[in-house]
Amino acid sequence: MYSTLSILTGCGLVVSLIGIIGTCVGDPRSAAGHRAPATPFTVSEAHRAMQLHRGCRADACARKGAAFRTLVAAGRIVPDTRADGYSM
Ligand SMILES: [Zn+2]
Repeated sequence: MYSTLSILTGCGLVVSLIGIIGTCVGDPRSAAGHRAPATPFTVSEAHRAMQLHRGCRADACARKGAAFRTLVAAGRIVPDTRADGYSM
C-alpha cells in the first residue's frame, strides 16, 4: 500500500513533467510560443493558432499575425478596417 506522501510526490512529479513538456511545444504563454511559424500555416493550423492566441493582439504577436493573414488570404476572415490591430 502506498503512503499518502508517496502518492502526492508522484502527482507532483507528473504535474511538473506536464509543465516542462508544455513549455517545449509552443506554449502560447511563453515568448517562444508567439514567434512566427517556420513554415506557412495551413488553414486549420491558423484556426488553432487564433484560438490559442485569442488573448494576443495580431499586431503584437507574430504567430497570431501569421494565422490572421493566412485566414484572410483563404477568405475565412474579412478584416474590419475600423478595428485597430487587425489591419494588414
Ligand atoms: Zn500570441
